[in-house]
Amino acid sequence: MKVLKFGGTSVGSAEKMKKIAEIVHGEYPVLVVLSAMGGTTDQLAGMIADAVKGNKTIALKSADDLKKKYDLTVLQLLGEEAAVAMFYVNTLFNDITRKLMQLPLAKVEKEILSCGEKLSTFLFHQLLVKQGSRAVLLDATTFLPLDSDHEPVMNEIEKRLWIALKKHPETQVFITQGFVCRNIRGEIDNLGRGGSDYSASLFGAALDAKEIQIWTDIDGVQNNDPRIVENTRPVRHLRFDEAAELAYFGAKILHPLTILPAQKAGIPVLLKNTMHPGDAGTKITANQDGRGFKAVAARDGIIAIRIKSSRMLLAYGFMRKVFEVFETYKTSIDMVTTSEVAVSITIDNGEHLQEIVAALQQFGHVEVEGQKTLVGVVGLIHAHEPGYARQLFEALSDIPIRMISYGASPYNFSLLVNTEDKIKTLQALNSRLFHNEIAKMCF
Ligand code: ADP
Ligand code: ASP
Ligand code: MG
Repeated sequence: MKVLKFGGTSVGSAEKMKKIAEIVHGEYPVLVVLSAMGGTTDQLAGMIADAVKGNKTIALKSADDLKKKYDLTVLQLLGEEAAVAMFYVNTLFNDITRKLMQLPLAKVEKEILSCGEKLSTFLFHQLLVKQGSRAVLLDATTFLPLDSDHEPVMNEIEKRLWIALKKHPETQVFITQGFVCRNIRGEIDNLGRGGSDYSASLFGAALDAKEIQIWTDIDGVQNNDPRIVENTRPVRHLRFDEAAELAYFGAKILHPLTILPAQKAGIPVLLKNTMHPGDAGTKITANQDGRGFKAVAARDGIIAIRIKSSRMLLAYGFMRKVFEVFETYKTSIDMVTTSEVAVSITIDNGEHLQEIVAALQQFGHVEVEGQKTLVGVVGLIHAHEPGYARQLFEALSDIPIRMISYGASPYNFSLLVNTEDKIKTLQALNSRLFHNEIAKMCF
């Protein structure tokens, strides 16, 4: 079995849904994981925000506008056989309207946010049924439970998903929602924005799938962020570690946690373009290949914390105490640099910043800087091989750099810059690492 995930743009219109139906028909047996139609989750989030602020009339008007779009899509998708889907859309939007009136209420907000995936999967299922397929629609919230740390419970996913599939031995096509799940309290929850990629990888690992395909709107992973840098090109192969680093560093094409389940299960991940299915895309496997720089990505919203203390000098146990503070506040550390008397740490979650700073002050002087961006250069970069550092420093010679990490893993070089310098940094890396003759030979 293969798992095929289609993102928001790929299911963004009736015409596109018909296109992905063709792709799906060629891949039986298959589990299809869908995102909400492009823009829907943002619109639902907007309604929720308005309703929470007390602007219920505006929220209801947005819900009505969104419903009109779905009414039209249903007709374009199903024509004369649209009655069942029309009824479903009506019922679901009545439900959304009722729920908007109940806000603010965290549990209900998440229920509303899950509706985009409910709509896209229902409509796609209707389309396949209309085309004569025996496709079965599965409710992902019944087989994607989270534990008390908000982590997916892998063995439960495996057990429940297999039970769900085995109930339908007659079918070769299953459809389910990405993004949505159930939390430890049994409430509807989600895997975070862009989380459908992660759902697909979890389901692929649970089913020991032959391949996990992520279909999106671009020819695979590009060597730099195409929203910022011109002339990017697809990277045809990435190792799991490289792809995981890239996703983690903010390449929007993959949710940061997507690679882990696939890597653990040893399942290849293929990234493909729905608008251009003939393109080879990017294949992510455990295989080793060429050395050198492969791609760059950046993540905003990073906070740097520096702790200066003369007590660090020749002391042991100091780092443990510092790290324990972050553990206490369940805040993960991204990057660390140290000198004899100071340590700098970055985090991307400032929820407990005040408490963290207060706790760190017992060890020394603490400084906090926001508005930082973490830039990751990914590839097979063996720190002991000469030349890489020179190339990187030459590329970055005009950029003010706050922190650097090199040699921690052979798969990345990372640096912290001011967010206002992000574009300049990505462009500098692009022209110096990928657009010279030696770099081109790495592809
Ligand atoms: P989907 O809706 O299919 O999940 P996303 O919008 O989440 O698609 O991800 C695809 C987008 O990610 C691309 O259109 C592109 O603008 C952006 N992107 C950012 N960095 C990269 C990269 N390194 N390679 C490819 N796409 C990237
Ligand atoms: N629909 C969700 C979002 O927009 C999940 C996803 O698209 O992956 O974030
Ligand atoms: Mg996405």
